[in-house]
Amino acid sequence: MINLILFGPPGSGKGTQAKKLAEKYDILHISTGDLFRKEIGEKSELGLLAMDYMNKGELVPNEVTIGMLKSALKSHGSTFGVIYDGFPRTVDQARALDVLLEEEQDEIDLLISLKVDDDEIINRLLQRGISDGRTDDQDEEIIRDRIEVYKKETQPVYAYYDAQDSAVTINGMGSIDDIFQRITDIIDQVIEESTV
Ligand code: ADP
Repeated sequence: MINLILFGPPGSGKGTQAKKLAEKYDILHISTGDLFRKEIGEKSELGLLAMDYMNKGELVPNEVTIGMLKSALKSHGSTFGVIYDGFPRTVDQARALDVLLEEEQDEIDLLISLKVDDDEIINRLLQRGISDGRTDDQDEEIIRDRIEVYKKETQPVYAYYDAQDSAVTINGMGSIDDIFQRITDIIDQVIEESTV
């Protein structure tokens, strides 16, 4: 199993890169944001609850998110690996993920953090708000709140994995293909090291 976390602020390109990586390495892509949007689309109880938080730019409570993640993992059965996108977003979520993986004698191999300037993030999200119609991307105030939440609640997740020696930062600015190349160079190294 290879377990990767794609990490970074909203709009850093996690979703775009995670999709390409899942295809290249034939691993499962789990995006908690996508899972919430699916629940919202189905108007489920969980979706309606999540929507309130998402539209305000706040995090959905940990118990709700962790519960949803567990059932997503369960429903997929065995896979060569998983790429987590948008999870863990708090240190408590990271601890819960570690416990979950330990139960399977497994662990996170690497967290890859995409570094992108705040101005670039705001531009990308406002663009996405126009092209995809995501309501949380259409209001600059909400975007700024999400960046604040990221800095306060999510950034400490990096230090959590760094303390386990399993975090790296790459430059998330540039073309999609260039960034993909930077990420795959690192993953190929991890795969090589785990097979020797
Ligand atoms: P982005 O990374 O661009 O903010 P996402 O699709 O990953 O987009 O997330 C959208 C929203 O979904 C977040 O602002 C948050 O409200 C909610 N969300 C996604 N993942 C989590 C999580 N792991 N914990 C709590 N809330 C989450």
